[in-house]
Amino acid sequence: MEKKSKNKCCVPRCFDRISKRHRFPKNDNLLMQKWVENINQPRLSSLQPEVIYNTCFVCDRHFAPEFLVSGTRRGLRRDAVPTLYLSGKMFLRHFNITAKCINMRISTAKTNTNSKRLDPVSNYK
Ligand SMILES: [Zn+2]
Repeated sequence: MEKKSKNKCCVPRCFDRISKRHRFPKNDNLLMQKWVENINQPRLSSLQPEVIYNTCFVCDRHFAPEFLVSGTRRGLRRDAVPTLYLSGKMFLRHFNITAKCINMRISTAKTNTNSKRLDPVSNYK
């Protein structure tokens, strides 16, 4: 494999290539377990903590601002757990933030569709 500038984030459907990467907390089994649960990636559950630590990364955007500590090497609080932009129920819980990204994608994707039917104003005359 050739060198990549950023490792792929292990959160399903996350295609972030810019944010800072964080390794799993391999020295804390319980916390490690929590990360795996939250990320909800079946592949991770079957891996040894050591393997996860060495091969998987979680990007900055999955951590709430209160977990981020700037100026430290790790950049995270010791008890930090990824809770944002995850699939499943966590995804819905943070829908308002995520919706912004979705809207951006939709607006570029639906250039050919007729949006007249979706316009509520024309029905209220
Ligand atoms: Zn990510």
